[in-house]
Amino acid sequence: GIQVENVSKLYGNFRAVDDVSLEIKTGSLVALLGPSGSGKSTLLRIIAGLETPDTGQIWLVGDNATHRSVQDRNIGFVFQHYALFKHLTVRENIAFAMELRKHNKNRVRQRVEELLELVQLKGFGDRYPSQLSGGQRQRVALARALAVQPRILLLDEPFGALDAKVRKDLRAWLRNLHSEVHVTTVFVTHDQEEAMEVADEIVVMNQGRVEQVGSPAEIYDNPATPFVMSFIGPVN
Ligand code: ATP
Ligand code: MG
Repeated sequence: GIQVENVSKLYGNFRAVDDVSLEIKTGSLVALLGPSGSGKSTLLRIIAGLETPDTGQIWLVGDNATHRSVQDRNIGFVFQHYALFKHLTVRENIAFAMELRKHNKNRVRQRVEELLELVQLKGFGDRYPSQLSGGQRQRVALARALAVQPRILLLDEPFGALDAKVRKDLRAWLRNLHSEVHVTTVFVTHDQEEAMEVADEIVVMNQGRVEQVGSPAEIYDNPATPFVMSFIGPVN
């Protein structure tokens, strides 16, 4: 799993992440939920190793990873501004990280086909990103993140820019994927309904702090703070 211990991140005097401690169990599907500016992406980037915390420690699968490089953390991620390579085909996009790590060519070919099947894009391998729908692109990005068989998958608003219907389909699809692959997954969203529908556990953030951690039912039935009560509220 993932342990976050007293992690803070300051930009000047501003605390984007303020003394956050969290435990994320191996194999769980967790939503980081909170309003814009609450520190969700910053915390995710710290877990990924894209950002260094000013205080605190990150433990991944039992090892202190606080000072490990991104590559050493064996994490797959899909971030908001981490687009597919436009000049590479779907197949080449998925193979990219494996080729960087000098995996055997046949192994790469076989794994790419497995991943295309997993994300339900068999037959799309030779297309370029511009020839795909938004939802298909997101699934390619997820396949690419899974290519190196990460122990942890981090997704920052993975369905953010998509229309309501596609978002709904992809939510169900992510749940199914998680039940097949069982990789510890943390995804960021500011959408209460999305968190409720997809996650086993929700971490509610506000102003850089964790307000509450619990199952969707626990959070809905027993909001721990006035903020959680108003933010979760009755879904309208
Ligand atoms: P959103 O839902 O809008 O993506 P978020 O919860 O992901 O929001 P963060 O991106 O983590 O929020 O940002 C948290 C706070 O830290 C914001 O107030 C943001 O302006 C600030 N912040 C983030 N990155 C930087 C930076 N590089 N320099 C200065 N301030 C930053
Ligand atoms: Mg964000």
